[in-house]
Amino acid sequence: MRDNLLNYSFEELSASVEMSPSYRVKQLFQGLQAGLDIDEITVLPKSERENLKERFAVGVQISEALTSVDGSQKFLYCTDDDNIFEGVFMPHGYGNTLCVSTQIGCRMNCAFCASGIGGLVRNLCAGEMLGQVLRANRAVGGSGKNRKITNLVLMGSGEPLDNYDNVVKFLRLVSSADGINIGLRNISLSTCGLTENIRRLADEGPDVTLSISLHATTDETRRELMPISSRYTIASIIGAAKYYFEKTGRRIIYEYSMIKNKNIDRFDALRLQQITKGYPSHVNLIMLNSVKERSLEGCTQSEAQRFLKRLTDLGVSATIRRSYGNDIAGACGQLRRSRLAGKEDL
Ligand code: SAH
Repeated sequence: MRDNLLNYSFEELSASVEMSPSYRVKQLFQGLQAGLDIDEITVLPKSERENLKERFAVGVQISEALTSVDGSQKFLYCTDDDNIFEGVFMPHGYGNTLCVSTQIGCRMNCAFCASGIGGLVRNLCAGEMLGQVLRANRAVGGSGKNRKITNLVLMGSGEPLDNYDNVVKFLRLVSSADGINIGLRNISLSTCGLTENIRRLADEGPDVTLSISLHATTDETRRELMPISSRYTIASIIGAAKYYFEKTGRRIIYEYSMIKNKNIDRFDALRLQQITKGYPSHVNLIMLNSVKERSLEGCTQSEAQRFLKRLTDLGVSATIRRSYGNDIAGACGQLRRSRLAGKEDL
């Protein structure tokens, strides 16, 4: 596999790609930040472009784009070694969010998630994560100067804290002033709760918003849903969450997918009150997206509203997350699954 040009900051690019005159490096960098391929950066001489193409891949390619009736878009990306994975673009009144993948497949194998079926294929490098942002920004009409993507959530396929170094490098590149410059305040990293790396991120930065996929209020239920819970108890996750808040000043977001007869009774509400007490936090309730290969059932709208009311009556800050792209396989890993199975429909 070729090295990826988007792994390099402007300084690193200047040091490792020899081009003369030296302003050519700047032209290259600006073209890349606009989401262009090497061949599309026509200010560069053809010989230079041929040279670069032999040595480098550029981020990832978009091999398919599906648009939902709600305005969200699902992208299927393809890597230089012909792996496919996906991401979602969600338009909001106040800006637009891109959901970024950090791995192809995932090792965590959560009971409700399509990404873990088949295990981890490989980590994505920083340039392949940045590539998703730059290509999607261009695909929705943005350019290097005209940024259409304002917010990022690391909630695509993969576990970001299981690919720590590449993710941190990506966060630095995507928030850098000479790049697309998405503010760290507008970036959320979602994790199943790898506490050592939560603490490491708290110590070393960058300071992004931390979302923790909780999904259960007892260790027993959480172990049923998320095998990784045998390594990390809820108590240890709360400890790491508080540490993250103390170090960064950022409130903690808990993600909580509501599952019928599993995690939404009044005792769960009471335990969530205890879990979130004493430090700034918010619970994002998620309507479970049913995944064909997984047998869990989501709850009804009225059950969801009842659980929300229980929480807010207890003083817990909580909202039900708006769901996007149900008609275009919005949930993690679904589109990849159907394409790997060779299916044209969803
Ligand atoms: N590995 C990271 C990020 C990827 S998943 C994590 O665990 O947080 C992003 C969020 O979507 C997680 O909260 C995950 O639990 C949730 N999720 C995955 N599959 C889902 C489904 N079918 N329905 C609802 N939420 C789902």
